[in-house]
Amino acid sequence: MRPAWLEVNFDSLAHNFHLLRRSAGNVALIGVVKANAYGHGAVEVGKELLRLGAWGLAVATTEEARELRKAGIVARILLMGSLHPQQAREVLELDLIPSISTLESAQALNALGKNVAVHLEFDTGMGRVGFQPEEAPLVKERFACFENLLIQGIYSHFADAEEDEPWTREQIGQFQRVQQVFGPGYFYHLCNTAGTVNYGEYGLSAVRPGIGLYGLLPNLGLRPIARLLAKPTQVKELPPGRRIGYSGLYTTQGREWIATLPVGYADGMPRLVFNRATVRFYPERGAPCICPVVGRVSMDQITVKIPAPVGLDQVFEVVTPDFSPTSSLWGWAELTGTVSYEPAVRLSPRLPRVYVRDGVEVTRVE
Ligand SMILES: *Cc1c(COP(=O)(O)O)cnc(C)c1O
Repeated sequence: MRPAWLEVNFDSLAHNFHLLRRSAGNVALIGVVKANAYGHGAVEVGKELLRLGAWGLAVATTEEARELRKAGIVARILLMGSLHPQQAREVLELDLIPSISTLESAQALNALGKNVAVHLEFDTGMGRVGFQPEEAPLVKERFACFENLLIQGIYSHFADAEEDEPWTREQIGQFQRVQQVFGPGYFYHLCNTAGTVNYGEYGLSAVRPGIGLYGLLPNLGLRPIARLLAKPTQVKELPPGRRIGYSGLYTTQGREWIATLPVGYADGMPRLVFNRATVRFYPERGAPCICPVVGRVSMDQITVKIPAPVGLDQVFEVVTPDFSPTSSLWGWAELTGTVSYEPAVRLSPRLPRVYVRDGVEVTRVE
């Protein structure tokens, strides 16, 4: 196996799963595993979420759903986003629950002549996809004529349940208007992670968290589930005045020990964190050692400054399972002006993934 890998901790995943469900009164949970489970590996994470009792999984594209089906997952899969009419056939082929936001897609699906359960999406404020809440009576009427479509669920999506309470309450109000039109008996869902945490009383039939399952929001008791680990491929001492990496953005001050780790921006480490990120290792004795990344992040390698030589079997945490400002996915996001979602989904499929439960490796994908 390559000496750089992503370790995913299923105990932390279970912790996050239960914490999120609890904050919404233990309603059902739809596990959002789009974008390769935010970089963590959709098949393995998806299977584990189902083992934990998820109602089903949610993806963004039919290809993501196909990967899950190919891996033998037979559970419910909600296809989020607005179904394009040209993908109606794939919905049937893959046995998906499509999200319907347009009459065109409903028509295309209905025309295929097979019964299919669908979820209607309403745009309560995001302005992206979904029928408008005012259209609810019309939508209800029109769907009565689509004899092959069974409305199973109805949902909406928050735009800023992290910060903007008035707007979120407005969205909740809009959704309640939709609920009034359709009445009871539907699987209603509204809450992403921020909604689940901040508006758990609107858990309705189910919550739909993504980022929270992966533990990537701070201060909520969530635990990041992944560590990016690497062993050095070379450890050497350089004299003072030596430049390191592309463009020579770091120059050794004195004699310095430099370890080269085989991860780079092709693995998902942002190129912009050069000379700012740190990596960490745990010596046999003493405190954890925090080592600065020195010089550019290359495509496949980084260089780190270490206080003393280590062997090639020393494991370094390139991503720590916490909210360190310099060595976590959250920290990388802060350093590069984005949200933790982005460095997470950029974790490259080329990284081997090792899944651990109760401290024991359960699966490995190379
Ligand atoms: C991505 C997504 C989610 C999950 O959002 P998080 O902020 O990651 O919890 C939920 N619902 C929809 C429609 C989404 O697109």
